Amino acid sequence: MPYVWWHSECDSLCHAFSTQQVVVDRYEAACMRYVPPDLLLREATGPLCVPCLLRVGQLNRSITIAMP
Ligand SMILES: [Zn+2]
Repeated sequence: MPYVWWHSECDSLCHAFSTQQVVVDRYEAACMRYVPPDLLLREATGPLCVPCLLRVGQLNRSITIAMP
């Protein structure tokens, strides 16, 4: 699933959002956070959200993370 990185003004982090979302009143990031559109800056600015990064990285590259 393709993702875009957008900046959330809720927490000043850059989250990964699915490009296949159809809901327009709020956007769900890969880390399950919801961001209303007026707080979503459609630019990949700011520090990346680590939970999003792990999740999208897993989906894109099929990485299996071994738990200790
Ligand atoms: Zn996130």
